[in-house]
Amino acid sequence: MPTATPPDIPWPTIGAVAEQVRSCGLCGLAEGRTNAVPGEGSAASGIMFIGEGPGFHEDRLGRPFVGRAGELLDSLLPGVPLRREDVFITNVVKCRAPENRDPQPREVAACRPYLEAQIELLRPRVIVPLGRHCLTWFFPNARISSDHGRILRWNGYVVFPLYHPAAALRSGAIRELLEADMQRIPQAVVAALDPMAAASPPLPKEKTPDPAKKETQGQLDLF
Ligand code: URA
Ligand code: SF4
Repeated sequence: MPTATPPDIPWPTIGAVAEQVRSCGLCGLAEGRTNAVPGEGSAASGIMFIGEGPGFHEDRLGRPFVGRAGELLDSLLPGVPLRREDVFITNVVKCRAPENRDPQPREVAACRPYLEAQIELLRPRVIVPLGRHCLTWFFPNARISSDHGRILRWNGYVVFPLYHPAAALRSGAIRELLEADMQRIPQAVVAALDPMAAASPPLPKEKTPDPAKKETQGQLDLF
């Protein structure tokens, strides 16, 4: 944990973010929730997994990735190797959408400061967006089909997008891709530790139509 909090983070600790999320009414998703799901885990491994939003089971328990998608994620972690308690797991939106529909842009926007604060407070080495909804939170023009398993850079962080475990439950081919990409998380950690890579400039957000692709090319040559 950082000893001093930079002044631009509205909450001093991860616990304070969670407390605010649990009583948040900033978007319509507050009405249908049983429990908000702020996220859980630790920054011990330096890895942060981010999904789309809580499903039925997550809403009931107030914990992320505890349903079938979570079971698949749990089953893949030891192979990396990672322990669930050593990674931080959260979502783009912290409250369940009715009938598990996609979160709307205004809900994603309302919830954005919480995830931004979680990232800044934990300062993970590698951020792992799970699925396209989370990928586009970072890179609006990216596509999960072409950008999964690529080492990307965002605001000084390494971002390593994976297919969503729920998509892997529906398709054997996607499951194979997810499993293969998971095995490469250590490579993303190495990229994050690379001093040359760390010196590379942040993404030119407005100028390039697909910053994700452009920024990756140099990185892929490392492996
Ligand atoms: N799917 C998600 O995107 N997040 C969860 O927490 C569970 C399932
Ligand atoms: Fe607040 Fe996010 Fe829940 Fe909306 S989804 S009520 S912004 S915590």
